[in-house]
Amino acid sequence: MNIPDIDTAFREANEHNTPYDIGIIRPGDIVPVWSEYDRRYSSTPPAFVKSVIVYVILTTVAADYYFRESLTPRIISILKRKFGNHFGYDDYQVNRKQLAVLAGLGKIAKQSLVFTNKFGLNAKIDAIFSDFEFDEYSIYDGERYREECASCAAPCISKCPVKCKMAYRLDDVSACDKYITPNWDMPELMCRTCIQECASSERLLENYPSEAHKRIGHPEL
Ligand code: SF4
Ligand code: SF4
Repeated sequence: MNIPDIDTAFREANEHNTPYDIGIIRPGDIVPVWSEYDRRYSSTPPAFVKSVIVYVILTTVAADYYFRESLTPRIISILKRKFGNHFGYDDYQVNRKQLAVLAGLGKIAKQSLVFTNKFGLNAKIDAIFSDFEFDEYSIYDGERYREECASCAAPCISKCPVKCKMAYRLDDVSACDKYITPNWDMPELMCRTCIQECASSERLLENYPSEAHKRIGHPEL
């Protein structure tokens, strides 16, 4: 089994063909978490897991719920239909940022989000767990932090409306949570300042048709 096998299920589930990127890693290659924020999540998957399929997908909508409730379950159901009962979900327990970095899909930016290779900060990350062995695995052992951020004045941080402290990790988790929670059911209104203020990330959006930008979270578009 390899990425092209997984790709067929993704294409079927991803009915609007929203751009995405995939990597597959071994649980044994997962390293410990690296920020207070990330300690809210586990660093390792359950013992039966032999492979972690990590994907990032283009979106400008704060729509984490869409992955848990719609897209990822749909992909898992198609994978099970095609390849048997070898795929499952962890209900977002394992740290997604570390998975994306280790799968070579992006690096941690100065405000602590993953700057993905293809979509910059305008992306969501999710993962599917399998007891299958794959033929090949992504092994990224280079720099985990985005080098380009080092010399940037970081408007992604200075423009935060509640002045959260961030330095490759988000120290003010509760201040951010308090600010964004009232709009939890209205992702269009949720704060995305630390994403939208990054010019290099916004430029990457130009590579994709505008109707694809908001599709995740608004599948009717
Ligand atoms: S604005 Fe963009 S390039 Fe600059 S520090 Fe923030 S994420 Fe990095
Ligand atoms: S989402 Fe908004 S409030 Fe939260 S850290 Fe980013 S800019 Fe600050």
